[in-house]
Amino acid sequence: MSALNDLLAVQTTDIAISQAKHRVTHLQEAIDRDIAKKSLAEIDAQIAVCDAEIVAANSEITKVDRFSHEHDDKLIKLNKQLKTVIAPREAEALQHEIATVTSERSLLDDRELELMGVVEIAELKKNELSPLQATAKSVLAAATMALSSAKQKIDAEISALTEQRSAQALVVAPSLMATYEAKRKHRPDGAVCRLTGPTCGSCHLDISQGEINAMRLMPAEELPECPHCGSFIVF
Ligand SMILES: [Zn+2]
Repeated sequence: MSALNDLLAVQTTDIAISQAKHRVTHLQEAIDRDIAKKSLAEIDAQIAVCDAEIVAANSEITKVDRFSHEHDDKLIKLNKQLKTVIAPREAEALQHEIATVTSERSLLDDRELELMGVVEIAELKKNELSPLQATAKSVLAAATMALSSAKQKIDAEISALTEQRSAQALVVAPSLMATYEAKRKHRPDGAVCRLTGPTCGSCHLDISQGEINAMRLMPAEELPECPHCGSFIVF
């Protein structure tokens, strides 16, 4: 019978090990770390949008500048031409062209101002986001450290329990250990249990007093089992 007591000790440790393994995959620290990661990613994405807007606006500003210079050159040329023409119809046509180019030139100026505004707004937004990004980075770093230390703590617990389990299993006969492992496949936490009154600690069904008495009288080499679930019963 004391063999079953030893086995119950093994099972208690096995349960503690599986609980610790479950805890390590359900850590609040992991949830906190994921939240911190997500917040930083959101800020990074907003900054990336600003950067893209700035790049696009600046590249259009370069193009607008080039067009503006082309228009300036054209205006110089047209004004020079205007001074040399004598025919009124020709002068009129040139004046008309000058007016068109001037108005286009002014539209380009407007567009450039508009684009500079876009750059300015995006830069301002980036400046606002920058301290938030720094905070989110340090929150993430702290959350990552907290997660790693929580994991280390449970890992240490698991390795201490595993060592304890090896020591506890040493005193149990290998054949009994094999039977225990087989029973555990069906009832991980109830391959061996105690009775609570007449109730099996594993399946929670009542065992008749007659059966309990018979189990108590069993010779030492026989191991009592619950008639319902087959769990070893420790008296
Ligand atoms: Zn049972």
